[in-house]
Amino acid sequence: MSDQDAVDNPCMPRWTDTLRSIVGNDGLLDDPAELFVYDADGFTVARARPAAVVFPTSTEQASQVVRCLSEHDVQIVPRGSGTGLTGGCVADGGVVVSTVRMNRILSIDLANRVAHVEAGVRNTALTDAVARLPGGDRWHFSPDPSSQRASTLGGNAATNAGGIHVLKDFVTSNHVLGIEMVLADGSVLRCGAPHGAHESPFDLPGLICGSEGTLGIITGLWLRLSPKPTSFRTIVATFATRRDACNTVSDVIAAGHLPAAMEMLDGRMVRLIEETFHLGIRADAAGLILCEIDGIDPMLDAQMQQIVSLFRANHAQDIQTSADEATRAKLWKARKSAFGAIGKISPSYCTQDACVPRSLLADVLDRVDEIGQRYGLTINSIFHAGDGNVHPIFLYDERDAAQVANVLAAAEEILKYCIDIGGTVTGEHGVGVEKLHLMPYQFDQPTMDAFASVKRAFDPRERINAGKLIPSDKVHFELHKPGRKVPQ
Ligand SMILES: Cc1cc2nc3c(=O)[nH]c(=O)nc-3n(C[C@H](O)[C@H](O)[C@H](O)COP(=O)(O)OP(=O)(O)OC[C@H]3O[C@@H](n4cnc5c(N)ncnc54)[C@H](O)[C@@H]3O)c2cc1C
Repeated sequence: MSDQDAVDNPCMPRWTDTLRSIVGNDGLLDDPAELFVYDADGFTVARARPAAVVFPTSTEQASQVVRCLSEHDVQIVPRGSGTGLTGGCVADGGVVVSTVRMNRILSIDLANRVAHVEAGVRNTALTDAVARLPGGDRWHFSPDPSSQRASTLGGNAATNAGGIHVLKDFVTSNHVLGIEMVLADGSVLRCGAPHGAHESPFDLPGLICGSEGTLGIITGLWLRLSPKPTSFRTIVATFATRRDACNTVSDVIAAGHLPAAMEMLDGRMVRLIEETFHLGIRADAAGLILCEIDGIDPMLDAQMQQIVSLFRANHAQDIQTSADEATRAKLWKARKSAFGAIGKISPSYCTQDACVPRSLLADVLDRVDEIGQRYGLTINSIFHAGDGNVHPIFLYDERDAAQVANVLAAAEEILKYCIDIGGTVTGEHGVGVEKLHLMPYQFDQPTMDAFASVKRAFDPRERINAGKLIPSDKVHFELHKPGRKVPQ
């Protein structure tokens, strides 16, 4: 029964009443004014209003919620903090199931390096809690998306989030030992090796990581804690040309170094960061590289000198090296706050995300500029250069329909180019609704069929987050709708 059926026949219970009986009055929003903030995630081009938002506080409640909505064939959309950048948790008339009230850290076992958390715990909240334990300041949860203060661990697993330090530490799936997930019929799956002691025959946690909420609602996670590196060297340099900066990145990796992080900013981003954080960076730089190595202290200076010589060979200017923790913290804070700083110079922005072969980074940035100019758009770049993960950031005004259309068209051209040269449709942000149409561009039919089979195995009636990640016959999203903030 849909809610309309209930309106037509007031004797029938509305599913919202059933949901209220499960999560309580304050656990459900269905007033249109309150739902307004749930009509988009960080990809504000895709906006659609959910019918309701539910906030379960336990796996048991989440299971009952899913059972109720499935029985009424209401589309279920899992959501963490809504920092996603591809419209993955947009619900057009469906019900958003938010995990933010499932935010308990259930146990931290330093001896076995495992934390057991509910899915709505924020990324940094886990490391903060670990640090408060005796001896805990030596450990952390290493995946560090720049959104980590806000984004949830469930969302990080669902998007298989990357981050600044995944060059050496790898993406979220490598740090997920076990998962608890509510399936489309309300049953609860527990998979993986919660104590890290054995491998499952099928790597189900690996499959669920990156499935963008299309297979079920993750309610609990067993996560690997890693030793925090204790010694660092930071190398920062500017370059007169972007090509020199890009060549430095691939030369460092080709020489066999594996920095903890290697980030790059183009000239426009350098100027913005300097204006915002006053770090003393020269304003005429065409590129900046921020590289960090970590490891055993007595070995780091020699490695740093080798890397510096590669910087010099590529005409780096103003090379600064440091072993100072305060300098390091200041630089990374500036890097992680860079997206926020964009709000100073543009009413709206949209971040693209693709992976490309590192050796082609300079060509990619040239092509991004050329496409941007053709569409009359300014595109800034700040990205995880070490792993070839580019982030062209489109500056535009979402109130202007022509600019929105240009952003979408330019983004598509850039992504197709990245795929054509051997890259991928997503680096770390996922596919959501934004890149759905490009999935068949990257993947051949047998692969698309295999993806669809996985979806069917978990959710045969397409009740959970249909129309995201892989195409659906049941649910289609328009990227922007009449009467919404973004004009048609
Ligand atoms: C400023 C900024 C910086 C960012 N930097 C990075 C970065 O460095 N690296 C990176 O990878 N991403 C980055 N992101 C993108 C985003 O933060 C990540 O994708 C993050 O993992 C999303 O977490 P969330 O809790 O906000 O999930 P949401 O946005 O709420 O959801 C994202 C997707 O996951 C699904 N989902 C969420 N929770 C669950 C759950 N419990 N069970 C099943 N499915 C679920 C949703 O359905 C949706 O498809 C950034 C975003 C912003 C705004």
